[in-house]
Amino acid sequence: MKKTIAIIGSGFSALAAACYLAKQGNTVTIYEKNDSIGGRARQFKKDGFTFDMGPSWYWMPDVFERFFLDFDKKTTDYYELIKLNPAYQVYFGVDDFISICDNLETIKATFETIEKGSGQELETFIKQAKSNYDIAIKDLVYRPGISPLELITPETTLKLSLFFSTVSNDIRKKFKNERLIQILEFPVLFLGAKPSKTPSFYNFMNYADFGLGTWHPKTGMFDVVRAIEKLAIELGVTIKTNSTIEKIVVEHKTATEIIIDGKHIKADIVLSGADYHHTETLLDKEHRAYSEKYWESRVFAPSSLLFFVGFDKKVENISHHALFFDVDFNQHAADIYDDPKWPESPLFYANFPSKTDLSAAPEGMESGFFLIPLAPGIKDTEVLREEYFKKIIDRFEKLTQQKIKNNIIFKRSFCKNDFVTDYNAYKGNAYGMANTLLQTAFLRPKLKSKKVRNLYFTGQLTVPGPGVPPALISGKLVAELIQKTFRS
Ligand SMILES: Cc1cc2nc3c(=O)[nH]c(=O)nc-3n(C[C@H](O)[C@H](O)[C@H](O)COP(=O)(O)OP(=O)(O)OC[C@H]3O[C@@H](n4cnc5c(N)ncnc54)[C@H](O)[C@@H]3O)c2cc1C
Repeated sequence: MKKTIAIIGSGFSALAAACYLAKQGNTVTIYEKNDSIGGRARQFKKDGFTFDMGPSWYWMPDVFERFFLDFDKKTTDYYELIKLNPAYQVYFGVDDFISICDNLETIKATFETIEKGSGQELETFIKQAKSNYDIAIKDLVYRPGISPLELITPETTLKLSLFFSTVSNDIRKKFKNERLIQILEFPVLFLGAKPSKTPSFYNFMNYADFGLGTWHPKTGMFDVVRAIEKLAIELGVTIKTNSTIEKIVVEHKTATEIIIDGKHIKADIVLSGADYHHTETLLDKEHRAYSEKYWESRVFAPSSLLFFVGFDKKVENISHHALFFDVDFNQHAADIYDDPKWPESPLFYANFPSKTDLSAAPEGMESGFFLIPLAPGIKDTEVLREEYFKKIIDRFEKLTQQKIKNNIIFKRSFCKNDFVTDYNAYKGNAYGMANTLLQTAFLRPKLKSKKVRNLYFTGQLTVPGPGVPPALISGKLVAELIQKTFRS
C-alpha cells in the first residue's frame, strides 16, 4: 500500500533512498534544514568561484552507473565524466612528487623506477584487490547489515585471513619503499580509520584507485547531486529546504509525526539521512536505541579543517588533486585517533577544480580547496584555523616552488564547529563512523530502529559506511528494507 514517507536531510543517501521509495509508489517528501540540498556534498559559489564543499574524488564509477541503471537511466543521461590524468600527485618534498597516472601499466612503471620489482608486486596486489572489490562492492555491501551470516559466502570463507591482518601489514610485506607504502595506504583513509586498523580485505580501495581511476564530473561533484535531484523530481519526490526537523513524535512505538517550526506533519514512515546520533536526539529518551556511552565508544572518522580559496592567477606545478605527505603520517594519525590534538605538522590535501573545469573560476584565476584531517570533537577557533592556514600555505609555496599568498582574493574556512552547526554532525565528524573490523556490516548502527517500528536510518553512520558510493548503496538498502516490511 502507498505510504507517506518523510525523509530527514538531503545528502546522497537520503536522495538515493527517496528515488527508490518513490519508484515503489510511495509519497515521498525530503525535508532539509539548510537552504540548499546535497548535505556534506553541497556547493558553494562566491565571486565567480565554485567549490564542492565536501567530496571531490569520484571513485567507483560502477556504483554510480548501477544506481542510475536501477531507474533505467545512465550517468550520461545527467552528467559528463572526465577521467583525470594524472589522477593525482603526491608531494614528499620540495619539487619532489610522484604522479599517479590513469592506468595501471604506467603506475607499475612509476613504481618500478622507485623500487626494483615493485611493478610486478603491484600487479599481483591489484589483482587480489580486484578480487576483493568484486566480492565486496559488487555483492557484500549490498546486504543490509542485519546478520553476521551475510558475510559468510563461499568467496569470503576463502579469504578469512584477510579479515585478521591489516592493510598496513599486508602492504609492508610486499613493498619496502616508504613513499610507495604511503601511496598504497592512502585509499583506505576514505573508510575513516588508520590503515593499521583496517582489515586487509579492504584493499579493494586500491583497486578503486589504480584499477578504476579518478574521475571528475564536468562541473564538479555537485553535478551528481543535481542529477539525483532531477531523477527524484521525475519520480515525484517533493524536496523542501529550510526545513529543520525539531522532533519525531512517537506513540505506541510508532513514529506518527515530525515537527518542523512547530508544525506537525503526519507520516506513515520516517527515514533519517541526518547523522544517526542527531536523529536519535529528536526522539524522547525511551525511544533511542543507542546510548551516549555507545556513541562515545565508537571510532569516528576524522573531522576536517577546510579552506575554499580564490586565487587571482593560475597556480602552477600542481594537478587537479594533490596530497602533501612530506611530514610524518604516523604522528598525524596518532593526533587524530590516539591522543586527539591539533597536529604539529599536518598532512594535507588540495584540489584545484578549475584545472579541469574552467567554469570553476573566473578567466585566468584558480579555485583551490585545502583539507586537513582533524580529530572529531577537537577545539575549533578562528585563531587556530588561521594558524593552520598559514602553516599549509607556507608549505604549499615551498613544496610547489611558487608564491601565491598575495594572490588570494577570497578565502572561507569550514571546520568542526561548522560540521556541527550545518549538519548536526556528532563531534563535528566529516565522514561519519569509521569502517573498522568491529564497526563493519552487521556491527554498525542498524538501518531500522530497534525501538520505533516505522523509523529508519540511512547514510554514513549506518551500512555500508562513509563515502558517496556507500551513501548511494545505503539509500538503496534502506528502501528495500522498507519495501520488505511494508509490502502488504
Ligand atoms: C570534506 C569532505 C570530503 C569528502 N571527500 C569525499 C570524496 O572525495 N569522495 C567520497 O566518495 N566521499 C567523500 N566524502 C564523504 C561523503 O561526502 C559523505 O560520506 C556523504 O556525502 C554523506 O552523505 P549522507 O547522506 O550520509 O549525509 P549528509 O551529506 O551529511 O546528509 C545529511 C543531511 O541531513 C541534514 N540534516 C541534519 N539534521 C537535520 C534536521 N534536524 N532536519 C533536517 N535536515 C537535517 C543535513 O543538513 C544534511 O544535508 C567527503 C566528506 C567531506 C565532509
